[in-house]
Amino acid sequence: MGNTGKTLLDWPHQAPIGAVHTLADAHFVLGLELGPSEWWQIWQKQRLAELLQWLNQHVWWKANSEETRNNQGNVNQSEFQLADLPIMRREYFRALVESHTAVVPSEHGNLHSSQTSGSVGIPARFHRSELSNRIGLSHYWADNFRQGRDMSACMATITGLPGPHEGTHRLIAADEWLHPSEQLGRNSTQFSILEHAKWLCEMAPTYWSTTPATLSAVISVIKLKGLTAPRISQIMTMAHVVEPALRERARKVFGGASIRDRYSCEEVGPIAFQCPESDDYYHVAVANVIVEIVDDAGMPTTEGTSGNVLVTGLHQWASPAIRYDLGDIATGHSHCPGCGATVPALSKLLGRKYFLVNEGSGSVRHVRLLAEHWLACGPVREHRVVQTGLQSFRIEVVMDHAMTPSEGLAMQAMLKRVVGSEFTFGLMQLEAISWPAGAKRQEFVGLVP
Ligand SMILES: [Zn+2]
Repeated sequence: MGNTGKTLLDWPHQAPIGAVHTLADAHFVLGLELGPSEWWQIWQKQRLAELLQWLNQHVWWKANSEETRNNQGNVNQSEFQLADLPIMRREYFRALVESHTAVVPSEHGNLHSSQTSGSVGIPARFHRSELSNRIGLSHYWADNFRQGRDMSACMATITGLPGPHEGTHRLIAADEWLHPSEQLGRNSTQFSILEHAKWLCEMAPTYWSTTPATLSAVISVIKLKGLTAPRISQIMTMAHVVEPALRERARKVFGGASIRDRYSCEEVGPIAFQCPESDDYYHVAVANVIVEIVDDAGMPTTEGTSGNVLVTGLHQWASPAIRYDLGDIATGHSHCPGCGATVPALSKLLGRKYFLVNEGSGSVRHVRLLAEHWLACGPVREHRVVQTGLQSFRIEVVMDHAMTPSEGLAMQAMLKRVVGSEFTFGLMQLEAISWPAGAKRQEFVGLVP
């Protein structure tokens, strides 16, 4: 018998280690979600305890805990609750990251540095480990299984992720372990919306991954130019709120296409994935994060009530985000009302609402203006707040009718109350706000330093 040098462990193939990890991790992520609720609850508790134990060995973190003790008395270790720790605001997160050189245990792998896109104020630098990135990636693979995708069908991506490329798209070679057919990646900023629309119609992918803004613009162009839209099974979105009207437009134009949204943030990765059986609910990614929904006083909201989203990244050891306030608003549910899954679920996700007011000499203030604030003053359809000086703002509004004097006064009073009484607000009613083309809509424009 010849000796091939192979052992039984190599049978049937020598699977590449990356694919093995991805598939095993994805299997685990789904197993945790679909198993009894004790599984993910115990698992989260263990991961959090490990993370906090490790953080408590570091001086830069201890300062944070000292602050907690001073504020809330002695924290009894045996009865420790996550809610005993302070809420971490974006400025604090940024200061914490800047306060020390990022370090993780060697088994977490190398660190990669990134920066938030700055769509909600000053960009924050942060670091993530190979382990954290790997777990994030495995959640997206788990979502392929959750949503019942056929991985041998064509998947096209139009986002910034594929990076610059030559030609019309980047071809991602088939992988017998992960996706048996080629995938197409196209860099969103390299082409016009019309070019994207034509390319999409020509490629006719079964699945399409993009942002809600690109999706919406492509639908408009397809209708405007009378292009023949392909039949798409699922459209995967991320990075922005998906309005119900967009789901309806996508369904009509792409032959029943169903949007399957993902909710994430750059600092910790995936937070929640849309329920496979409902447009309204999102399953919290319990293998990656703990999500809390709290009111403005920091107290947990009751079942089915909306509040501020706090996220704790269980694998984000490099730039710890513990009870990190994303500035997002959502409604919390103890389980998914859409399909009965036992993991916590979110609904009515609203985008980032915080912005930072520059008060001069490097000092900033957190301000949050909600739709309710505007609507209490009058029928405001769109608004943009532009800080024009250390003490002045220009307020652009689009309304259903000409602004009445009492509506103007109500707006002045509301802005003084919410933003600050020391500022002046110049109100301008416009036919339309000239949002910059191609960029995210920024309802607050900060003072350029
Ligand atoms: Zn569900």
